Amino acid sequence: MLIDSFDREVNYIRVSVTERCNFRCSYCMPEKPFSWVPKENLLSFEELFKFLKVAIDEGINKIRITGGEPLLREDLDKFIKMIYDYKNDIDLAMTTNAFLLKGTAQKLKDAGLKRINVSIDSLKEEVANSIAQKKVLKQVLAGVDEALKVGLKVKVNMVPMKGVNSDELIDVLEYCKERKMSVRFIEYMENSHAKDDIKGLKSPELLEIIASKYNFKDVGLEASSPSRYFELDDGYKFGIIEPYGKDFCKSCNRIRLTAEGQLIPCLYFDEAMSISDAIKRGNIDEAAQVLKEVVKNKPEENRWDENDGESSSRAFYETGG
Ligand code: SAM
Ligand code: SF4
Repeated sequence: MLIDSFDREVNYIRVSVTERCNFRCSYCMPEKPFSWVPKENLLSFEELFKFLKVAIDEGINKIRITGGEPLLREDLDKFIKMIYDYKNDIDLAMTTNAFLLKGTAQKLKDAGLKRINVSIDSLKEEVANSIAQKKVLKQVLAGVDEALKVGLKVKVNMVPMKGVNSDELIDVLEYCKERKMSVRFIEYMENSHAKDDIKGLKSPELLEIIASKYNFKDVGLEASSPSRYFELDDGYKFGIIEPYGKDFCKSCNRIRLTAEGQLIPCLYFDEAMSISDAIKRGNIDEAAQVLKEVVKNKPEENRWDENDGESSSRAFYETGG
């Protein structure tokens, strides 16, 4: 079992398989980065899997594949199958923009993927296309339909922004409710890679909008989830992710691995340790040692509030969000 210095059990790893993306979301990667990580620096799926076996043996039981856009990486289904075949009761999930999901959902499900989180920031074609800076909406919605059809569990993430999509909160909630998918509204997190003029909505503003149509009650933080949940009168639950909230880090159970093999203890900190050399040399004991060290280094809480989100220079598309 992996326990950090504040007595929290760490059982969850988010694995970014690429920092590349086919979207240019205004809040994440509005412009193509000056350079991508050279292909030779990326860990192969075999190498990532070698590390994940170590992590699973040490107590990790939840793995989320993310990016960048994970579906850009070829043979993702084979990587998923490697993990599933090693331990089929791992909670195996992926976060995706869904653009390439229509043709891949069945393969991913067959390989052992259980759940996906899809980013949907707008249901209006013009708005969605303008956030992603690409014509995306139809294909994203087709991807979601396909995922549901093949039996993947789907959650939706939306980043509400003033003057952009804040008038669509209820529409997105109802789109999800009709399809029995949970929706989580993520408070926009300031970062130096995003467009300058973005103003996110904070939790009280989000709740006020939803209260204009629905009654709901606060049902609290879900165990090991960064989300606070609210229940409508008919039992449907929606979530809000409040990274600026005071309890956000209390039950943090996660670490992050970048596509280059940097193991990160917290989204908001620059400190990371590489597992790349150890894995490439086949030194499993050393990789396990790095893993334990990173877990030990997890800070008690992020200090996002104090420094306007500039505490980390790493982009969300590198860390996997
Ligand atoms: N490309 C995939 C996607 O968009 O779902 C996976 C990677 S993306 C970095 C993971 C999550 O980070 C998405 O839900 C996205 O909305 C969220 N995200 C990215 N930048 C963010 C920001 N500045 N504030 C809040 N959430 C952000
Ligand atoms: Fe790409 Fe996801 Fe970032 Fe949008 S949020 S640019 S889809 S990595």
